[in-house]
Amino acid sequence: MAQLRLEIVTPDKLVLSQDVDYVGAPGLLGEFGVMANHIPFLSALGIGSLMYKVGGKANYVFVAGGFAEVSGNKVTILAEVAERPEDIDIERARRAQDRAKQRMDREKDKVDFARAQSAMQRAFYRMRVRENAH
Ligand code: ATP
Repeated sequence: MAQLRLEIVTPDKLVLSQDVDYVGAPGLLGEFGVMANHIPFLSALGIGSLMYKVGGKANYVFVAGGFAEVSGNKVTILAEVAERPEDIDIERARRAQDRAKQRMDREKDKVDFARAQSAMQRAFYRMRVRENAH
């Protein structure tokens, strides 16, 4: 029986609101997992694949930036960007990955390297989520 409420919101929409058994999220300092009766907790979010389990089945949502709050058996994900698999355009992610790769090769010693690296991570995890993977 699901005992944990998961809500994922972005500045412009409610992406998901569902009872779940487990949430695994990409915190800025590393992956963290939440089950029912977790202690109150707050974390900044990095770029990655958020996983939630319902009845033993794993589901994935792409998230990038924002915050996660755990309080009273509720996990609130206030994400800058959040996309469900069906909302992800895989060809667009592939193009973004190619552009980022080229930029990383060109900009090795420049400040834009970090920006290209983030774009690369976004593209990588979008593709993972589109393929239902973590
Ligand atoms: P791109 O270079 O393709 O724009 P990006 O990683 O720079 O990718 P973001 O800045 O993360 O894009 O997102 C900008 C907006 O575009 C957001 O609303 C995001 O949901 C959407 N978006 C970006 N890439 C995709 C994708 N592959 N499929 C669906 N929506 C996407």
